[in-house]
Parts: sequence; structure tokens; C-alpha cells
Amino acid sequence: SKAKLFEGDDHIKTTFKDVAGLEGAKEEIEEIVEFLKNPDKFTKLGGKIPKGALLVGPPGTGKTLLAKAVAGEAKVPFFSLSGSDFVEMFVGVGASRVRDLFKNAKEKSPSIIFIDEIDAIGRARGKSNFTGSNDERENTLNQLLTEMDGFGTESNVIVIGATNRSDVLDKALLRPGRFDRIIQVDLPELNERKEIFQVHLRPLKLGEDVEVEFLAKQTPGFSGADISNVCNEAALVAARKNKEVVEKQDFLDAVDRIIGGLEKKSKVIK
Ligand code: ATP
Repeated sequence: SKAKLFEGDDHIKTTFKDVAGLEGAKEEIEEIVEFLKNPDKFTKLGGKIPKGALLVGPPGTGKTLLAKAVAGEAKVPFFSLSGSDFVEMFVGVGASRVRDLFKNAKEKSPSIIFIDEIDAIGRARGKSNFTGSNDERENTLNQLLTEMDGFGTESNVIVIGATNRSDVLDKALLRPGRFDRIIQVDLPELNERKEIFQVHLRPLKLGEDVEVEFLAKQTPGFSGADISNVCNEAALVAARKNKEVVEKQDFLDAVDRIIGGLEKKSKVIK
């Protein structure tokens, strides 16, 4: 909703177990979990602690899920905000929201700030984004940079950003001491799709002809979010037919439907 531009959650239950595949990304982000669990252990040795990590990859690949899992694993509060919420905002509000967000996160540190669609704020300055006031966006970006520079690692707040457009980001965001770690979150390969199916098939009552290997082979190019949709949709198809279990054919129908939806979406973009 518009009234609530950021949310804080102290009790994230998501853990790495909920994130299927993405082994490389999980390994890279594990360091942040270790730091958040025990900041003193790191600072005592004078080590350089990351301030921010940027998750880069296509939509629906689990970037938000992964960021939440970091909070869940480390048992720290999770503050989140979406860059696209800023697009329609009044002058001056963006910067003050960013200030408030950092203030809240610092009060509850160690903590995580997650900024989804950070490209909506962090587009290179001076380039139009065709969506509302550019000055306002620049003020918001400048405030974000100020906040990230202003807190030392002793504040124990880690900022995780997510984007599928790292190419348009202002280079200032990627400087050391800001988002100095870039973690790639790619579309899943066959084996990863199998693992994602396993997660999302768990709550379903399955027919005997359903095989994970087969489903993974039917879904090249699908994201984790697409796979989650396939599983939901298959259950709906089966329910409509008054079935007791979800069968292979229901999954095939669901896959067709999702592919239809994806094709429509890409036509609109063109
Ligand atoms: P966007 O760029 O559109 O914000 P995202 O990369 O943040 O997408 P998520 O919001 O994390 O994607 O994923 C949406 C949903 O898809 C998740 O809540 C989860 O149900 C499912 N999903 C995506 N990736 C995975 C994964 N690797 N393992 C398990 N489930 C996944």
C-alpha cells in the first residue's frame, strides 16, 4: 500500500532450506549471515565487513526469498522497501523515507535493509527514466548514498539490493563501501528446477504418475516463481476436475497455461 512504504519484520521464518538451487549465491551470502550472527567476532579482528550486497538476476529467480533467508538464518530484523514505490511520490518524501528506514534499522541492529527494484531509485543520475520526477529520484538516490556512507560497519546494518537491470545503475552505488558485492542470481538449470519443484510439490497431493525429473525437463527457461505458479495452477486444474490427486496431465495443462501467459507478456513488451 502507498501509506506503508517500508515494512519491518522481526520474525522472518524463511531460511536457506526454502531457497532451492542457487548454491553459489547462498555460499557468497553466507558470509553476511555469519557477520550478522556475531558482528563482534569480525570487528575485533579489524576485518573489513561488507556494507551492501547487490543481487542481480531475472524476475522471479528468488532474490527476495534469498534476502529474507539471510534475515531468517541470522535471526535479525528485516526492513524492506521497493524502488518502484518511489516513482509516484511527492517531492521530498523519498529522501525522508530513506532516512527513516535507516534510522529504524540502526535502532534494531544488527539488521537487514532490503531494497527491491533498486534500479527505480538508482538509475544513473542525469538519465531520464520516463516515469515521474527525475529530481525526486535523484534526491532519493543521493540520500541513499549519504546513508550508506554515513554509517560505519559498527552500525551492523547490511543493505541488500535487488535488480534485474544492473546495467542502468549509477556507478556510485557500486563503489567500495556501498554495494561492493555483486551476487548473480540466474534462472535455474535442470537440476535446480528439480529442487525447486521438490519445494513447491511438498504441500500437494500427487498422483503416482508425477515425476520431478519429467516436470523439470518440461520447463526450460522457467524461473522459480514460474515453477511455483505451475504447481499452484496444476492443483487448481485438478480441483476443477474434482480429482483426489494432482496428476501429470494437470501439470502439463498448467505448463501450457503458464507458457501462454509468458508469451502474452513478452508481446506486450515488444
Ligand atoms: P522479482 O525480481 O520479480 O522481485 P525475485 O527474484 O525477488 O523476483 P522472489 O520474489 O524471491 O523472486 O520469488 C517469487 C517466488 O517464487 C518465491 O516466493 C518462491 O515461492 C518462488 N521461488 C523463486 N525462486 C525460488 C527458489 N530458488 N527456490 C524456491 N522457490 C523459489
